[in-house]
Amino acid sequence: GELRKEDLVEQEALGEGASGAVVKCVHVPTGTVVARKTVAMDPATLPAVVRELTLLHSFKSPYIVQYYGCYTDEASLCMCMEYCELGSLDQIASRVYAAGGFFTEDLLGKICVAVVHSLRYLHRQHRVIHRDVKPSNIVVTRRGEIKLCDFGVSGLLVNSLANTFVGTSFYMSPERIQGQEYTVRSDVWSLGISLLELAIGRFPYPFDVPAKGAMMTAVAANGETPARRHQRVPIFEVLDYITKEPAPTVPADLIYSPTNPTGRLSTGFRDFIDRCLVKDPAMRPPPEVIMKHGFFRHWDAMFVDTEAWANMLERWQ
Ligand code: ADP
Ligand code: MG
Repeated sequence: GELRKEDLVEQEALGEGASGAVVKCVHVPTGTVVARKTVAMDPATLPAVVRELTLLHSFKSPYIVQYYGCYTDEASLCMCMEYCELGSLDQIASRVYAAGGFFTEDLLGKICVAVVHSLRYLHRQHRVIHRDVKPSNIVVTRRGEIKLCDFGVSGLLVNSLANTFVGTSFYMSPERIQGQEYTVRSDVWSLGISLLELAIGRFPYPFDVPAKGAMMTAVAANGETPARRHQRVPIFEVLDYITKEPAPTVPADLIYSPTNPTGRLSTGFRDFIDRCLVKDPAMRPPPEVIMKHGFFRHWDAMFVDTEAWANMLERWQ
């Protein structure tokens, strides 16, 4: 790796996922605040993963979290990236909904625009499929920028995680659950589930999942992972349901119409979600096609003051 452990001073925990912990740190030589993610790995594969990750330095887009570098620490890989002050959308969503609020459609629009642009960038410029689109991998800066993180750039890293349940998530597309070919259209499915969840304030399938939400990665119930809280989730029942049952959609009572004037979402939003959640991957649009959808085009062209929203969230903390 190109960073040194001694140069980082830990500040505070930012969150814990199934694969490891994320800590806010200061890189002392430069004074840069970073988010450092630690992933336990087989020491034998570490050098090769570190080599693969150097690719990440060339990933540059306003819609993705910038990679700064990594180092190894015993049997762990430590990756440093741009620190996003407001945290991830799963954290923001639980605060917003706990306070009786919701995500207005203009915000959902800008989240959609950011994720679609980042998927398009990753795939077009780098031939990379994200593989883990979900609210906890969409982060927000204090300037109101919305960015995607944790993309599957390293095949070795992806594989070493795939051997465990760490790679299992409720945002996975039906074809991925069934072990079929994984394409960039699978990321579009995960975007649809994520946007729908943020819009309605709960996981869009009828399963009772713990508070951190549905917004989480399922883990093996062997008690060894940090995410003990997820153990009671019926992982296989949920995955089975996703493959067998019709895709979820926006509930009718949330759609605005003259007869439902308190509805907060448009038919355009519902139509966008329905396109993302086509179960047959061959019929589901890839990012460059979903970019032609009216909902995307509308919010791509529109100014939304996401900075004012971020400032409001920051004052709430
Ligand atoms: P997961 O994405 O499954 O929640 P991770 O280990 O990837 O697990 O991340 C744990 C948490 O750390 C995330 O949920 C997020 O809240 C926080 N986090 C990750 N990356 C950043 C970042 N760049 N800036 C701020 N917070 C972050
Ligand atoms: Mg993550």
